[in-house]
Formats: sequence, structure tokens, C-alpha cells
Amino acid sequence: MHNTVHNLLKIQNRIKDHLNILNITKFPKIIAVSKTFKIDKILPLIDSGHIDFGENKVQEALEKWTEVKKNNSEIKLHMIGKLQTNKVKFAVQLFDYIHSVDSEKLAKKIAEEESKINRKTKIFLQVNIGDEKQKSGVNKSEIENLVTYCKKINLNILGLMCIPPANIEPAVYFEEMSSLNKSFNFDELSMGMSSDYLKAARYNSTYLRIGASIFGQRS
Ligand SMILES: *Cc1c(COP(=O)(O)O)cnc(C)c1O
Repeated sequence: MHNTVHNLLKIQNRIKDHLNILNITKFPKIIAVSKTFKIDKILPLIDSGHIDFGENKVQEALEKWTEVKKNNSEIKLHMIGKLQTNKVKFAVQLFDYIHSVDSEKLAKKIAEEESKINRKTKIFLQVNIGDEKQKSGVNKSEIENLVTYCKKINLNILGLMCIPPANIEPAVYFEEMSSLNKSFNFDELSMGMSSDYLKAARYNSTYLRIGASIFGQRS
């Protein structure tokens, strides 16, 4: 068995054990974050039947995934990185999910480009949950306005997404995200990475974004 497939199985089992103890029955999806890795390294996971993959750069994703996706219609591609408005046109053609919508300007551009090609991506709104100056994401005080706006322009919003502050215990942020998500009645929640996916799962994450623990350290 290829080591990436082995790693993914190990992660799935850890999550199952963890959630079993807590009597949680809903199992989150795992997005294998393949950014920086070449397609050769990704193919064994595809061959094993895994379908959700995450990338953070439009150009890199186009080069790596355009052909592969044509031949594997099951594959779901997730844009998890910062999205510039001038790349939206390409992003909505390739990606099935965009996790990083954090402004009306970006939301509007996505709606415009989607209507041109009659295709709809699934959207997460990225929240700057730690209120960090340098971080992407909508501020907590502006989430409600952004949700209202996105509904008005008919974006397909699944839920909220966050990257909690580094080097701080994330549980308090995950808990807050979970209750925010509930307050909007969203069904899906995107949070949890290699270092904290068990905790994220415990706080109702439905999409874990895991890179290094599957593919190894990025250079
Ligand atoms: C890279 C990345 C991940 C995956 O991080 P790992 O620590 O490698 O699991 C998850 N989410 C976002 C937004 C990322 O950019």
C-alpha cells in the first residue's frame, strides 16, 4: 500500500475511535490537501478511491488537475487559499468548492463568473476567528452582513471556514465556530488541519483539510 493511502487510513481510524468515545456518529469528510505535491504523489490516493482534494493556488491547480479531473469525474476539488478576483474566472471552472470567500467584492465576482458558465460552486465563508491583523477572513462583526449579501446574490453557501491562530490551543475557536455555524443553520463546517483535526472533529467540523499528515512535510 502506498504510504499516503496508509496515512489516510490511519487518520480515518483515529477520527473514528475519537468520535466513538464521544458518541458522535457523523463522520467528517477529509480533504487531502495536495498543494506543492506533484500529481505522481497524488495518484495513488485517487486510485484508492479518495475523491476530495485541496489546493491553495489557482495556477498550480489548473496545471495539476485539469487533465486528471477530465478523466475522473468523481473528483471534488477544493480551493482553500486566498482567491484574487482576477483568478475567479478560472477558479469557478475548475473547483467544486471554494472555502475562502471573505468579502462582498469576491462574492460578487464569483456570482458573475458562475452565471456566465452556468455552473455553481459550493461556498464556505472564511472567518478571521482569532481577530488577527494579518489573516484573511471576514471579521466576526461582519459575518452576518456577508451571509445576507451572499444569499441575496444566490451563492450556494454551505457554511463557515476558519484557520485558528497558530500556537494557541484551538478548542475555544472551534467551539465558537461551531456555535456561529449553528446560528446560521449551516450544515457544513470547514476546519481542522494536521495539527488539530481531532479537536475540530469534536467540535462538529464536517470538512477536515489535512495535508502534511497525509503527504508528508512540504519543502
Ligand atoms: C495548507 C493548508 C491546510 C493543510 O495544512 P496541514 O498542516 O498540512 O495539514 C489546511 N488549510 C489551509 C487553508 C491550508 O492552506
